[in-house]
Amino acid sequence: MTDAYPENTDPDPFRSPRDVPTRRACLRCKTVFQSEGFGERICPRCKGSAQWKSGLPARGDGNRQR
Ligand SMILES: [Zn+2]
Repeated sequence: MTDAYPENTDPDPFRSPRDVPTRRACLRCKTVFQSEGFGERICPRCKGSAQWKSGLPARGDGNRQR
């Protein structure tokens, strides 16, 4: 089966128009910070201290345990 998730890091020079450095609200503390790109949804403060990774859903690695 093919994954419909466009999260694969394709070497495509054309990035999403949303993937631009701008100010975004942190998903953790709602603090508006300077985001490097669309994938940057957590402020550096939360990234460095909080365990935000455990709260996020696992990425589609394609590994299925039986
Ligand atoms: Zn934050």
